[in-house]
Amino acid sequence: MVLNNIRIGMTVDTTNIRKQNYKQDTITKKALRILPSYRIFKETYNFLQKSQWWTREQLEEYQLEQLNNILDHAYTNVPYYRKVFNERGLKPKDIQDFKDLQKLSFLTKDLIRDNLKDLKARNYPHKKFEYVTTGGSTGVPLGFYYEKAVSRAKEWAFMKTQWDRVGYNFRDKCAVLKGYVVNSVTDYRFWEPSFFGRWLVFSSYHMTDENLPIYIKKIRQFKPKFIQAFPSIITILAGYMKKHNILPFDSVKAILCGSENMYPGQRELIEDAFQCKLYTWYGHAERVVLGGECEKSKSYHLFPEYGITELIGENEKPVRGEREVGMIVGTGFTNYCMPLIRYKTDDLGVHTNKKCDCHREYPLLKNVEGRWLQEFIITKNDRLISITALNMHSDVFDNVKQFQFYQDKKGEVFLNIVRGENYTTADTEYIKRELCKKMDDDVQLIIQFVNNIPRTIGGKYRFLIQKLPIEFGDYKYEL
Ligand SMILES: [Zn+2]
Repeated sequence: MVLNNIRIGMTVDTTNIRKQNYKQDTITKKALRILPSYRIFKETYNFLQKSQWWTREQLEEYQLEQLNNILDHAYTNVPYYRKVFNERGLKPKDIQDFKDLQKLSFLTKDLIRDNLKDLKARNYPHKKFEYVTTGGSTGVPLGFYYEKAVSRAKEWAFMKTQWDRVGYNFRDKCAVLKGYVVNSVTDYRFWEPSFFGRWLVFSSYHMTDENLPIYIKKIRQFKPKFIQAFPSIITILAGYMKKHNILPFDSVKAILCGSENMYPGQRELIEDAFQCKLYTWYGHAERVVLGGECEKSKSYHLFPEYGITELIGENEKPVRGEREVGMIVGTGFTNYCMPLIRYKTDDLGVHTNKKCDCHREYPLLKNVEGRWLQEFIITKNDRLISITALNMHSDVFDNVKQFQFYQDKKGEVFLNIVRGENYTTADTEYIKRELCKKMDDDVQLIIQFVNNIPRTIGGKYRFLIQKLPIEFGDYKYEL
């Protein structure tokens, strides 16, 4: 038998799903985690209220100061960076401006995986490290560390500052459609309250034509002011509403969309169905770059206070021309437990030198190209499952080096896995069990082990190779 190509056929069994008392790490828990660090949130938030109106010079001065701090810290306390500096005969003082930063090598996902221990700051006690994992937008699982309580508090301050632009308040009611599994899906109850009852989190895995009227009725009853969503998931609801001429929700003032980019036509469909503003932003779990729309434009306004963003062209030099495309590389300021310096995000950004009418002197990105490959799996019964939703932020893929879904037949999907060193059959069982919960009974999942997963021509991994045309509502997308 060829070990590298074992096929494990599996038909998903729904009885399993009901039996398991599975509980996703709820948003309330995440929110509670930041309560002790409310002071950090408040300080960061208050700072951003002022700094967002600083001049370009003030912002650059601040960035250089922050860069010096993080480089000094990395050199002194983080073995990986000490090595990087030493190998190049550099000291932190040799990096005096943004151009000097190019003297340091890039950090990649592979390098993080291979040097995880050496990337941890030695001057932080064990209890300060919070382990997080992400599949990112590229299908390569990655584990790393936040500073417990601090990282999340700072992130909230930045997010709140962005959402302020569409009038979001913590007291506001939100419906949440972001790839969550809801624990208590029984008797057509596809939601559960969160964030002290202010948020209603909906299951993203039961959005069928049969169930959507129940979702719509509940949203109307709950009267949320905002809907937080993954674009692919809100699109299913929007497509259904347009197809059946369902009126928008009067209470909803804006849709807050992150984590995925939009297909052409998706924004128009969502805004048309909901008759309100769609607010989008761009960021990662790795927290090196964050930017969102403003009141005046749809370009991403990158927070200079969050980190330094470089757009790197094919020759490894920064991209400067209007509409030129480069790899988004970020150096984050908010995580001293595990600093990420010159981290390659694997996303491509479109540069612009234009200034925005909002008068913020933030660098702008016209668009992010890398995430256009957001995709769906099509089930036997024409249900669409967002691939971002399957891309679980948990430890499921910890022992997997790479994975990729492949579909060319409705209701059947292959999961190709490159096993890591510690991978065992227990991992296969765990993966099957977790994916079952999300795929329900109308997708057959076939796990295959492979030696490697080929990159695309652009050198990127794709999370799903989808050979089927995708349809929702009157909209049809060819991948
Ligand atoms: Zn603006």
